[in-house]
Amino acid sequence: MQLSWWEINSWFTNVDYTIVGSGITGLHTALRLRERFHRSKILVLEKGPLPQGASTKNAGFACFGSLSEIIDDLNNHTEEEVTALIQKRWQGLQLLRKRLGDSAIDFKPYGGYELFLESDTAGYENCLRRLPFVNDVLRPLFRADVFVKETDRFDFKGTQDSLIFNPFEGQIDTGAMMQALLKDAVANNILILNSQTVTAYHEKNDSVSVSLGDFTFSTKKLLFATNGFAAQLTNGAVKPARAQVLITEPIPNLGIKGTFHIDRGYYYFRNIGNRILFGGARNLDFDVETTTDFGNTNIIQNQLEKLLREVILPDTDFTVAHRWSGIMGMGPGKVPVVKQLSEHVYFGVRLGGMGIAIGSMIGKELADLV
Ligand SMILES: Cc1cc2nc3c(=O)[nH]c(=O)nc-3n(C[C@H](O)[C@H](O)[C@H](O)COP(=O)(O)OP(=O)(O)OC[C@H]3O[C@@H](n4cnc5c(N)ncnc54)[C@H](O)[C@@H]3O)c2cc1C
Repeated sequence: MQLSWWEINSWFTNVDYTIVGSGITGLHTALRLRERFHRSKILVLEKGPLPQGASTKNAGFACFGSLSEIIDDLNNHTEEEVTALIQKRWQGLQLLRKRLGDSAIDFKPYGGYELFLESDTAGYENCLRRLPFVNDVLRPLFRADVFVKETDRFDFKGTQDSLIFNPFEGQIDTGAMMQALLKDAVANNILILNSQTVTAYHEKNDSVSVSLGDFTFSTKKLLFATNGFAAQLTNGAVKPARAQVLITEPIPNLGIKGTFHIDRGYYYFRNIGNRILFGGARNLDFDVETTTDFGNTNIIQNQLEKLLREVILPDTDFTVAHRWSGIMGMGPGKVPVVKQLSEHVYFGVRLGGMGIAIGSMIGKELADLV
């Protein structure tokens, strides 16, 4: 890349903070830095022509965990860890809504549901048994019961009789949310450069030199918000996790409205107007889906279509309009990692499957490390 003197001078000279990644986390990091440092030069570098990880690819659930997922988490984390994580997700959702406004992100408080397949009687009964306990754990935070047993009024087929309803869950328009964040960043004098891959960095005494291929510049602080692409940076604490999705063509008289979970969050669907977006099934093929390569596979797409046809829309003709994938960042624990790596380098990654909720908080925490 041969840059002009003007380009070097305006974009790459006297840079105070460089953020790698323009997803939810990176943009919130930049905005929080701007709140703290009014006159600093803040630069965001993004390898994709658009943000190209999970933030523009996701399902738009404004959620903090389904009942079966929370019960599963309680098996692997302490009660305190689980409540702290849910609290962070809940606070993160409020921060996102406050920062951008509900109309900008098209927030719809339709509530969320969990359904259980007929074959999962054990999981269903376990959830019903532990529902009062989980509500007790969450009551100090929500001051009400979060999970309520409800009769299925959606005519799902091959499922247990009741659903679990969560009135605190909502849905957003992911594209609108990311556009609003990008506009907010530009309005706050944050420079965003797309199609720029950070290929290396080298720490010096008072700064970091950052390489974009054959071009190198200096920044006082370097902050990575690269989530699923941070395996090397974090020494394996984060692994990429591809998630595949499909969306149907419009379905006349669609009666499904809200966000829906199946099997500990491994499957999720929602309405978008009169279409259904459906994603998941990563657990059918964990090894293949542990990748930073975008793409769709038959094993997963066929399973999504099967469940759509047999369970979710059993008596409805539908056609699939579009399919895509995104890359999440997962790890052995569900708690994100926000860390100072060295004197001038930091990272905030491993947002798992609930980055819409937690991204704003992780961005803030990352910026506040500086
Ligand atoms: C299909 C799917 C459905 C999901 N559904 C939901 C949902 O409904 N609700 C929810 O809360 N969460 C959901 N998630 C998870 C959520 O989208 C993520 O947790 C969140 O977007 C993570 O944000 P991030 O900014 O940390 O990471 P990302 O959005 O992945 O951003 C990281 C960015 O870093 C860039 N980058 C990486 N390496 C470099 C480099 N070397 N140089 C320059 N740039 C680089 C990438 O291109 C990327 O844009 C879903 C994810 C997927 C994939």
